[in-house]
Amino acid sequence: MELADIHCHLNFDRFNGDRNEVIRRAKISGLLFVIDSGFDFLSNERSLRISQTYDGFVYSTLGFSPNRIGKSDYRYAIDQIFKFSDRIVGVGEVGIDLKKAKASYEKQKEVFLEFVKLAEEINKPLVIHARKAEEKVYNIIKDRDITAVFHCYTGSESLVRRIQDSGFYVSISTLVCFASNVKKIVEHISIDNLLLETDSPFLSPLKGRNEPSNVKYAYQKISQIMAIDNDEVSNKLIKNAGEVFDIRL
Ligand SMILES: [Zn+2]
Repeated sequence: MELADIHCHLNFDRFNGDRNEVIRRAKISGLLFVIDSGFDFLSNERSLRISQTYDGFVYSTLGFSPNRIGKSDYRYAIDQIFKFSDRIVGVGEVGIDLKKAKASYEKQKEVFLEFVKLAEEINKPLVIHARKAEEKVYNIIKDRDITAVFHCYTGSESLVRRIQDSGFYVSISTLVCFASNVKKIVEHISIDNLLLETDSPFLSPLKGRNEPSNVKYAYQKISQIMAIDNDEVSNKLIKNAGEVFDIRL
């Protein structure tokens, strides 16, 4: 069994005490790589450092969360992404959050578009954070020439089809282990456009802090829901992840 966690935050302080152990457990669990995502200038810096330390196992995407608008200047993150574009595998997380973010929709859209253009310019996939705004984000990007991943997707089942028809990807998190709405979504997904993630340290299927090795639980659940042979699922998912982020396996 070979797997990947395409979205987590090992850059959080909560991993400072045992990051080596967490990475070791991920390798033992069959993960071939992990993608760490920054969400503002400082977390992007930490993410770059971690991907350098664990070169060839941890890869980095740099972004700017809509929740950070007004708290930190997104233009620093833009310059940073541009500067390190050859060391990252994607732009994100970026997006629109109408549940938690304080900034207006208009402002969030304006900032999001800056990152969409940047992803196009440096030719990297976009890792999207969309909360209560999946349709809006989809409409903003649907006609653009980019690869896009809807990270930790919890939107409608009807949008899943359109996302996939546009050639974009849906990333399902470890939420699938316990959230019935996410299980429902999986019933509507094509494995061709599916990715898996933990969003660690959040969304643990067990208790406490989540970590990349737990992606195996999401994978087991998905194989069960889709009623597809485990090996077939892992082969397909690792292939998808490698292709989207241009990581050679
Ligand atoms: Zn995240």
